[in-house]
Amino acid sequence: MKLRVLGCSGGIGQGLHTSSYMIDDDILLDAGTGVGDLSLQEMHQLKHIFITHSHMDHVLSIPLLVDTLFSDLQDQPLLVYARAETIKTLKEHIFNWQLWPDFTELPSKENPSLKLIEMNPGDVVSVGERHIEMVDVNHTVPASAYIVESASRVFAYSGDTTTNDNLWDRLNQYSGLDFMIVETAFSEEEIELARLAKHYCPSLLAQDLKKLKHKTRIGVSHLKPGDEEHIFKQCCNEVNNEHELCHLASDDHFQI
Ligand SMILES: [Zn+2]
Ligand SMILES: [Zn+2]
Repeated sequence: MKLRVLGCSGGIGQGLHTSSYMIDDDILLDAGTGVGDLSLQEMHQLKHIFITHSHMDHVLSIPLLVDTLFSDLQDQPLLVYARAETIKTLKEHIFNWQLWPDFTELPSKENPSLKLIEMNPGDVVSVGERHIEMVDVNHTVPASAYIVESASRVFAYSGDTTTNDNLWDRLNQYSGLDFMIVETAFSEEEIELARLAKHYCPSLLAQDLKKLKHKTRIGVSHLKPGDEEHIFKQCCNEVNNEHELCHLASDDHFQI
């Protein structure tokens, strides 16, 4: 499968976009600001969006995307998968006719342009040959990681999380792990903030990576703008060659 990084930053700025990753040409994992860099033609190919949690940096492009694609979504709605709590937040706070029109009722309830589909941790949704499993993680709101398996290749995306056992236990049940994207939002100096906001910092990430039995290549994401080099260097020191770390950037392409 192909993976393209649309956004992997903890914020915005020139060349920096928030979390969104494209699998092949038709699937998004999260829909942060990076979606806005796609051409119209590329946007029209998107059919499935898997959301990790309700925070704005991960969902911001959904309302704009469905509006942009509206005339083409009459026969085949955009399918957004998320856990029940995330769907409730999207409906109450975005698609409420106040912040944005409710596209789950447009152009009609019977024939909507957007479908919000409930998915629970442990569920697997298959899109063609790609099998996408939702895994519970540990953040300030109900949040998930996704594990994508295709043709015996396995890719995992942590979403936002801090210390947990569940993601690593589940990954250990797969026979291999070919690539992973994991967040490290804060530097070591901000470990208390990382604990409060339920994100990783380099030492918390390194402690959790010891739970992973697969040696793999890991893309580090969600770094605070302006502090990227510093946080990434701390990650390399803490992880200490146990895994190959790479510093992700917008428009990176990977063949997994
Ligand atoms: Zn978050
Ligand atoms: Zn985030």
